[in-house]
Formats: sequence, structure tokens, C-alpha cells
Amino acid sequence: MAVVKANAYGHGDVLISSHLNQMGIYSFAVATLEEAIHLRKFGIEGSILILGYTPALYAPELMQYDLTQTVADFSHAQELAKTKIPVKVEIKIDTGMHRLGITPEHNEEIVSLFSIPTFSVCGMYTHLCVADSQEPEDVAFSKKQLKSFAYLTDLLEAAGIALPPLHVQSSYGVLNYPFLKYDFARIGILLYGCHSQFEESCLMNPDVRPVLSLYSHVALIREVEEGDTVGYGRTYKAKRKRHLAVIPVGYADGYPRSLSNRGYVLIHGQRARIVGRICMDQMIADVTAIENVCVGDRVTLIGKDGRDRIYAEELAALSKTITNELLSRLGSRITRVLLIDKKFE
Ligand SMILES: *Cc1c(COP(=O)(O)O)cnc(C)c1O
Repeated sequence: MAVVKANAYGHGDVLISSHLNQMGIYSFAVATLEEAIHLRKFGIEGSILILGYTPALYAPELMQYDLTQTVADFSHAQELAKTKIPVKVEIKIDTGMHRLGITPEHNEEIVSLFSIPTFSVCGMYTHLCVADSQEPEDVAFSKKQLKSFAYLTDLLEAAGIALPPLHVQSSYGVLNYPFLKYDFARIGILLYGCHSQFEESCLMNPDVRPVLSLYSHVALIREVEEGDTVGYGRTYKAKRKRHLAVIPVGYADGYPRSLSNRGYVLIHGQRARIVGRICMDQMIADVTAIENVCVGDRVTLIGKDGRDRIYAEELAALSKTITNELLSRLGSRITRVLLIDKKFE
């Protein structure tokens, strides 16, 4: 199940999902009703599971767009049932995350959902909250979650219920618990060829490669003299004469402002340090050491240029977050284009 919430982690939800459709993937997950409707309006086929809560008031839209709604808790189920509108649902089980779901202790409530006439139960799932960690304490917690989910499914089977498709793993669930044999895995960050952060030790280390590169171009070149300062707050002061390149990307595009005076970009395959504060729409890089930089030259903010490469994981670490946040915040001004590498066709 491809997780394409938050604009497919910033990659472009329709772009990614229609490509996945072409590849034969027909199971999707999003966070909200609006995201799901957006995919349908752009012709995405297959099941679309809404992972978040949708008020029962929108049951008509769930039906109209043939969406699958997560049952967030028992009262949510009751509200949806009260509308008398046929809905596809998946039951969320809370095995320890304590965000959404019904706990296995309330198994009678769970059993009762299977006999609501307007419900078509298309799945049942839980979410692991420390699947990314190999710390013994965390592994023990994940195992407890898995046990509790298995206990519930056994119980339902014993009660004569035909189990719907089941799923438990997200990206790190697959990397650290690859032996689980459920019907789906909900793959988010890994689908985009990224880890949440560098240097995690996982049980499985597949060779994934980043799908996304982020490019801009040099908008303007200027010179500053010794002692001149650059940008808002005058946070950078030139120690010598410097050549600077203005790049039309800023924090409104999702490039973290916290990378002011810390981040770098690639121009002509060389690293150029960001100087001064990153603005809403622009930033400035020191290109003094790079020869012949011209207006219009490509600037690589994420991706490969020559022999060097900037990984999303690197920028995420530098801005004290994870790639999930960095990528999902990439802004709406950025044009998304899909280039298929012939090697992978
Ligand atoms: C976002 C999300 C996922 C995907 O997580 P990744 O770590 O990006 O693979 C899976 N399941 C649920 C419930 C989610 O909210």
C-alpha cells in the first residue's frame, strides 16, 4: 500500500500515484478526505484508505468517491453507522501508539463492527510506534504490539469472523520486522527512496535510492567587499571580497530557515555555502571558490551534481528533523516533473 499523504511526502501526489497506477499499484493511503478526493479527481484508480479521522457528516463523499475510511474509535463507528450510508471501512486497532484505534481489550466492540449492515470491512490494521529502533526496550515494545494484534485476530477468528486483509508495517516495520506476513505493508518514506535519518541500523538494508532531486538556478551574481553584510539581521559578514549567487528558493518553498549560514548547495558539482539568513523566497550562496558561475546555472539543493550529492537525510540532520518533515514541507511553488530512468523501466 503506497502511502501518498502530504502530497506524496512533497513529491506530488497525482504525479506519484498515477505512475504507481501504471506500475500496477492499486492500493493507496492518505491522511485526509480532501487528499483522497484530490486523487480521485485526477483519475487515480484502486483503493484509497484514509488513515485519519473523517467526520460522519462526510459519509456521502466517502461513498461518492469510493474511499475507505479508517474507523478511528468506537464512537466514530457508531456515527458512521447512524448515517445509514454504505461505507467501506478499515478498523484501526490501538496496540500502544495511543493515537487512533480501538484497543484489543474492547474486542466485543470490534466484533460488533463486522455486523453493521452498512459497513463493508475492507481491512484491519495497527501501527507500530518504535519500529525504527533496534534498542532492546523498543523491540520488546514492538513485539508486545504485534502480540496484542495477533491475540485479537485469533480471537476474531475464534468468534467465526472471516478476517479482512490485515496490515501492521510502515517503512521501518518492513526494515526491522521483515518476517511478518500480513496482507499489506503501508510504505511511506521508503517508497521515495529515503530513510527518515542517516545511520540507523535496521535488520534489513535494501538498496533504495532517492527519487527526488531539487533544483533551482542562479538568478543573479553579485560581489561584496570586506566588511559587507548579507541579508536580514546582517548575520553574515564578509571577511574578504566575495562572489555571491542569489537563488530564488526560500523557506516558503520548504527549504528550512534554520539552514541559514549552515546549509549548502551544489553548483558546477561543488559545494557553495549558504550565507546570511534564508528569506521567504530567496537565499544567497557564496560562490567565490567556484569558477565561471553564470546567471541561469543549475543549482542543486537536493540530489547529485558531478561527483557530489546532497542527500535529503543530510539536510534533515542539519536542520534537526527527519526527511519525512523536510520533504513533506516542500512548497507548492516548486514544479514537480517525473523523469523515468531507463535503467529502472
Ligand atoms: C504515515 C503513515 C505510514 C507511513 O509511514 P512511513 O514511516 O513513512 O513508511 C504508515 N501508517 C500510518 C498509519 C501512517 O500514518
